[in-house]
Amino acid sequence: MIRILLIAFLAVAWAPATAQTVTGPDRPATFIVRELVQNIIVPAVALRPPQERAVLRQVEIRVEQGGPFPGPRAGVSNGKRLILLPDIFVLQLQGHVEATVYAEVSNQPHFAEWWLDYTLWRSPIFGRISDGPFYRGTAPKRPLLFAGMTENQADAFVTQYRATILGMFNAALTDILLHELGHHAIDRWYDSDRTPPTEARAIEREADAWATSAHEDLVNAYPNAGGYDMRNVAGRLFAIEFVYGLTRWRSTAQVGSGATHPPFVSRVSSAASVSGCAGIDAVIAGFCESIGERVEAMASQANAEASYRARAEEGESFAAYRLGQILLSRGDYENACAIMIEAGGRRAEHYNGWCFEFSYSGTSLPDATREQLATKAYEIGAEAGWADSIWGLRRLGAIP
Ligand SMILES: [Zn+2]
Repeated sequence: MIRILLIAFLAVAWAPATAQTVTGPDRPATFIVRELVQNIIVPAVALRPPQERAVLRQVEIRVEQGGPFPGPRAGVSNGKRLILLPDIFVLQLQGHVEATVYAEVSNQPHFAEWWLDYTLWRSPIFGRISDGPFYRGTAPKRPLLFAGMTENQADAFVTQYRATILGMFNAALTDILLHELGHHAIDRWYDSDRTPPTEARAIEREADAWATSAHEDLVNAYPNAGGYDMRNVAGRLFAIEFVYGLTRWRSTAQVGSGATHPPFVSRVSSAASVSGCAGIDAVIAGFCESIGERVEAMASQANAEASYRARAEEGESFAAYRLGQILLSRGDYENACAIMIEAGGRRAEHYNGWCFEFSYSGTSLPDATREQLATKAYEIGAEAGWADSIWGLRRLGAIP
């Protein structure tokens, strides 16, 4: 979804297929994808015209363990049609659904954003970086534990909202797989490094349009495919918000960013105009309503800055940290340091270290003292599992 990789895969013996095969290690993400493909994708493909069906049945959906960050990709390699789905993406999508449902139910509209940021900075994708002797940090918590629930409370919550969580997750993953199948159906590809963004976006729109029509046909034929109500567009809205959240995070984290998918706002509004968010479930209806406000707030850097500033003024430390990141990206280091450190919260230690390291804090102190203070702050961040604190320790030579 994020980009099409034209990697030369090893030649794989080609065999005529009667349905999409799902391959991957015997792990939860593979089981989840396999079940969804059987229940939803196979019936959706069966509804396509014969020629298209023949193409789509050749597609192998490969769940990759520890695949590259962060998104699904489709491609053709040595004549083999593939959709590659990193397992971490599937599991993070699942967590994000749980976080979103909790955000609606607990009336904390920004909870899913807090959790996503928290988990991405500790993502196993950074495993190779944090694999040092002791700076491994604790494993990221699932959303409900991150929210402060006990295991028992979390299980009870999931039982209570099971239909909503699974319905939303199925709808979102269905939308993502249909989009990737759309690339195969229309046979339109691009190279994210070389194709001009306008052309890449046009191809993405075509894949979206194909997915929309395949989804409509599926809903008309099987309104309860996979045992869940497939009618509303919450799944697409959710999938878009999730992928957009990842892209935004990557651009502030500077882990590279690709903006090939049509801008968030136009994708959300075109998805919403397809069939609306007619109330099926109170939690999903609430999500549909609130996503509009979030779109408005994040539509531009200026909107995002104003929105984070307003939230920070109401005392939300996460918003202050994001505001600080925007100032950082503009080169306004002094204000960024002042805001982020004053805000406190979970990420403050890391930025404390950063501001000492680059001399925006403790300007009157000798260099060696500042470096010691930076190292100390990064150590606290690294113990908590923050990958960027570990990078800081590397820069300072405190760890190999
Ligand atoms: Zn795509």
